[in-house]
Amino acid sequence: MQLTITQSKTLKPKPDETKLGFGTVFTDHMFNMDYNPEKGWHNPRIEPYGPLVMEPSTMVLHYGQGIFEGLKAYRTAQGKIQLFRPQENFKRFNYSAQKLCIPQFDEAFALKALKELLKVEKAWVPSAPGTSLYIRPTIIATDPFLGVRASHTYRFFIILSPVGAYYPEGFNPVKILVTREHVRAVRGGIGDTKTMGNYAASLLAGEKAHQAGYTQVLWLDGVEQKYVEEVGSMNIHFVIDNEIVTPILNGSILSGVTRDSVLALARHWGMPASERKISIDEVFAAYERGRLTEVFGSGTAAVISPVGELKYEEKRIAIGQGKVGPVAQRLFDTIMDIQYGRADDPLGWIEAVE
Ligand SMILES: *Cc1c(COP(=O)(O)O)cnc(C)c1O
Repeated sequence: MQLTITQSKTLKPKPDETKLGFGTVFTDHMFNMDYNPEKGWHNPRIEPYGPLVMEPSTMVLHYGQGIFEGLKAYRTAQGKIQLFRPQENFKRFNYSAQKLCIPQFDEAFALKALKELLKVEKAWVPSAPGTSLYIRPTIIATDPFLGVRASHTYRFFIILSPVGAYYPEGFNPVKILVTREHVRAVRGGIGDTKTMGNYAASLLAGEKAHQAGYTQVLWLDGVEQKYVEEVGSMNIHFVIDNEIVTPILNGSILSGVTRDSVLALARHWGMPASERKISIDEVFAAYERGRLTEVFGSGTAAVISPVGELKYEEKRIAIGQGKVGPVAQRLFDTIMDIQYGRADDPLGWIEAVE
């Protein structure tokens, strides 16, 4: 497939790097590629960023047959641009595609196209501490049709957004509300994919948590509401007796690239790390016995998000006296140092763009 590049005639002013938020500013160009049953994926192109024109009957708008990914490009102190395990994101994208009846795409080609897009947009990769260029690959069903079936046509696009440091005020623990009233996903469903409906399904519980003074929700499994699954849209980890315990991928949990990186680094350091079912009762019991020392989330946006308080029904526990624990801190520093090229890359996670 031949990738064509059409340069934008006008370039936007770059935002102030010290005032970047998340997901509000988009770059000058985007990647687009189409699918139909005759040609398969075709017409890959980099062109000016702009609105998608579609009929109101477009399938994704009605039945949510759409998927996305989230990763970042980082600028090193030497000015180089690099990606962190991007192959994992495209592999997961194809996994989500298969579960949503979306045709498979060539992962190596998609990575090549992303790198070309990043070369066109390299001036948009910010360099202020903690900033990065967020990358959002998306695929949507585009048939103009109201019947319920898999679409025959699709659009694959990638947009880019410069984002600020996740912790501009410092790396501080957050308060999390354990919900039994709502569930995010169930086994056999699509909780293990990055598909639009999962996020719509999480909004109400998130809003209720905010109203109660909590940053996010801790989700329990959708069948028994007993086992811990995720925190907000991050994976979750516990440190119990100096071992990292992470809920096992059971079909309703998203397989985070950061989650896998946490487990791989811990094992690389010789620290015990297990993936297994862990019930919320076990978490609270471990706390009562003084064995639970840390709780933290993991995901691309925050890397590591320490949890300082968990509330579950009438019980409330304060973990680590409001301070970031040593395991969360070491993981956060190490992953960030690898991403920004400040440390060695012992596990081969960095992909240079140029
Ligand atoms: C994206 C996401 C994660 C984290 O995945 P990363 O690959 O580490 O960014 C975890 N849970 C949910 C529900 C997600 O959407």
